[in-house]
Amino acid sequence: MTFDAIVVGARVAGAPTAMLLARAGRRVLLLDRATFPSDVTSTHLIHVPGMAYLRRWGLHDAVANAGAPPLQRFSMDFGPFTISAPPPADDGAAHPYCVRRTVLDAILLDAARSAGVVVREGTAVEGLLHSSGRVTGVRGEGFEEHASIVIGADGLRSVVARSASAETYHATPSLTACYYAYYQGVQPREAAEIYQLGDRAVVLFPTNDGATCVFVACPAAQFHDFRTDVEAGYAEALARVPAVAARVAAATRIGRMQATADVPNFFRTSAGPGWALVGDAGYHKDPVMAAGITDAFVAAQLLADAVHKGLADDLDAAVSAYAEERDRRFLPALQLTCQLASMEPPAPEMAALFATIAASEAESTRFFGVMQGSTPIPEYFAPDNLARIMTGA
Ligand SMILES: Cc1cc2nc3c(=O)[nH]c(=O)nc-3n(C[C@H](O)[C@H](O)[C@H](O)COP(=O)(O)OP(=O)(O)OC[C@H]3O[C@@H](n4cnc5c(N)ncnc54)[C@H](O)[C@@H]3O)c2cc1C
Repeated sequence: MTFDAIVVGARVAGAPTAMLLARAGRRVLLLDRATFPSDVTSTHLIHVPGMAYLRRWGLHDAVANAGAPPLQRFSMDFGPFTISAPPPADDGAAHPYCVRRTVLDAILLDAARSAGVVVREGTAVEGLLHSSGRVTGVRGEGFEEHASIVIGADGLRSVVARSASAETYHATPSLTACYYAYYQGVQPREAAEIYQLGDRAVVLFPTNDGATCVFVACPAAQFHDFRTDVEAGYAEALARVPAVAARVAAATRIGRMQATADVPNFFRTSAGPGWALVGDAGYHKDPVMAAGITDAFVAAQLLADAVHKGLADDLDAAVSAYAEERDRRFLPALQLTCQLASMEPPAPEMAALFATIAASEAESTRFFGVMQGSTPIPEYFAPDNLARIMTGA
């Protein structure tokens, strides 16, 4: 059977892309080498705009009722001041959630399957099939499959990107190293809490079943030192926020510590004849803005719309337009991500801006519109808007 689309990778980028194409009447094959439910190295924040995408797709309630609490507030503590407020609502969604990936990814995969996608788990793609300068399908051990387009949703080390010779650009190497563990009984559980204290970030994400993900980041340059005694380094970071250290000390760790220092920042060329990339495969960045899941939903919708339209018209032009739109939307966020992940203290004018924002709950909510991706970064940092904030207009 020839498919309209083959999607490689069945998580937050691949499953919605496949689902949306199938709902539009396309024949879709979705392959993943993992079997689900399956975990991935990631914390869990789905920003309000991500929840709005789930709402449009009819999946909001399944995710909201998956056992993680609705987060009432974001709180960013910079030491001298704290920006704390509810994030802005977006298109009918009001709260962010931190759902474990074993749960979230399984909900998305089920939705793809229910839409009529042919799903094959435990199936590794080893390379692409080419004919007359186009990608025409995928191959793996003992199988070949053909389609009008192959979509790589296969993450950071994308085989589709490598086999299609996708170029990397706007690249900055890993800037941080990340460590996290889960604790049962950290109270309260109403907010996503972020503490940016010197060269350490500490983050608390309340997730499913009473567990809280407690995350620590340090500059990549300190990774080797940190690694000599991870537990001591982790405890030292928590101790910078004594109130958090006490809450964590009163809780029980469940499972092992997870770590990665493999968080490079880049775009990859995300479209070519017969292929496209979505999610981390085409746009990878440091987790400092916790935006990978929400961004994957945005790109999945853009790409599915482009492919559906292109299959009836000019597929290569449609996916090429998708790739341009993806870059246009996300370049400012990639740049801001690299700035925040550098863990440099904010410049004096930026510190003054943050302090002014922190003094007003309404202004803090507007600021979180930037962090969650619903307010365009260039619009927020435009001189007239900064002047408005600083003068309290
Ligand atoms: C430490 C850390 C914390 C993070 N925290 C957050 C957060 O709080 N909020 C947020 O929004 N984002 C966060 N992110 C980012 C987020 O995890 C990613 O952006 C997201 O997982 C990308 O999803 P994806 O579907 O593109 O790729 P992935 O989740 O990487 O999935 C790729 C899939 O492709 C499959 N695959 C790969 N190769 C093949 C192959 N050859 N054949 C078949 N299948 C294949 C894999 O098995 C996998 O299932 C974090 C990332 C890290 C590293």
